[in-house]
Amino acid sequence: MKKGKAKKRRFYIQKHKGRNLHYDFRLEIGGILKSWAIPKGPSLNPADKRLAMLVPDHPLEYGPFEGVIPAGSYGAGPVMLWDYGEYEFIPEGRSKKEPPPSTPEQAFKQGALKFLLKGKKIKGRWGLIHMKGRGNAWLLVKDRDEYADREIDFVSKYPDSAKSGRSLEEIFEEDGDVNPEYAGM
Ligand code: MN
Repeated sequence: MKKGKAKKRRFYIQKHKGRNLHYDFRLEIGGILKSWAIPKGPSLNPADKRLAMLVPDHPLEYGPFEGVIPAGSYGAGPVMLWDYGEYEFIPEGRSKKEPPPSTPEQAFKQGALKFLLKGKKIKGRWGLIHMKGRGNAWLLVKDRDEYADREIDFVSKYPDSAKSGRSLEEIFEEDGDVNPEYAGM
């Protein structure tokens, strides 16, 4: 990659009330969306380590989806586009001892992703770290920077859609019978 011109990659965070409420965090890596389900959502407090379960890849086209997964399908319930934007990959490894990854694909394989988010709500430097020996369990952690905040409850302060301004309840009521093509995601 050419220096000084970071490649633009997309990310999406969908607030999804399936069986349980969670946040689906999706990063564009290698032409698909690597995806993690985060029960509590992101925290701006660097001391919080939020459990992020790696779930199946999704196609890029699914990222901006907001609507309702119909009853009887996996994940049935409302999906909100809670936040979205571009991110920059930060080529840093899990520790200073290891050689730094040169691509997000490589960082993913090494189990430590660092990135700079440029969302409507979520900004700054973040890390996703695989808990070795713990299967699909990763942790989402805010890096210490000017966007870190130890006081606010981030997801409670900004509950609504970055795309439409709607709440999950409004999405459920208004979009209940559309978008069946997304069944199963
Ligand atoms: Mn989900």
